Amino acid sequence: MTEKIRKSDEEWGRELTPEQFRVLRKKGTEPPFTGEYDHTTTPGAYYCAGCGAELFSSEAKYDSGCGWPAFYKVVNGNVVEEHEDVSFGMRRVEVTCARCGGHLGHVFPDGPQPTGMRYCINSAALKLESRE
Ligand code: FE
Repeated sequence: MTEKIRKSDEEWGRELTPEQFRVLRKKGTEPPFTGEYDHTTTPGAYYCAGCGAELFSSEAKYDSGCGWPAFYKVVNGNVVEEHEDVSFGMRRVEVTCARCGGHLGHVFPDGPQPTGMRYCINSAALKLESRE
């Protein structure tokens, strides 16, 4: 069981950039095709920009054309949580970091095999550590 990290908005505001804070703590979305990692193919691991939990691997990253980094799986099933999200008149599944509760993005059932899932994640919620 992952130990949860709980901090006030004031604490998060001191640690995060304004864009990271808006996405992770206020469920914001970066504009499509603008994020730092949208087209990144660098081999490495993607960590939560809020708490440093390892979330995704470059091996599961693919170009979905949607304008945000897309992964067909998480590093393991415990690192994210899924929540029904009916905001903006849509029915979507929100993905949050299991450790800090930070908003990452959404998951859609239109990804490639072997999972058929597309984790559509804001670059601002991620920190890539290159293996190169
Ligand atoms: Fe986190």
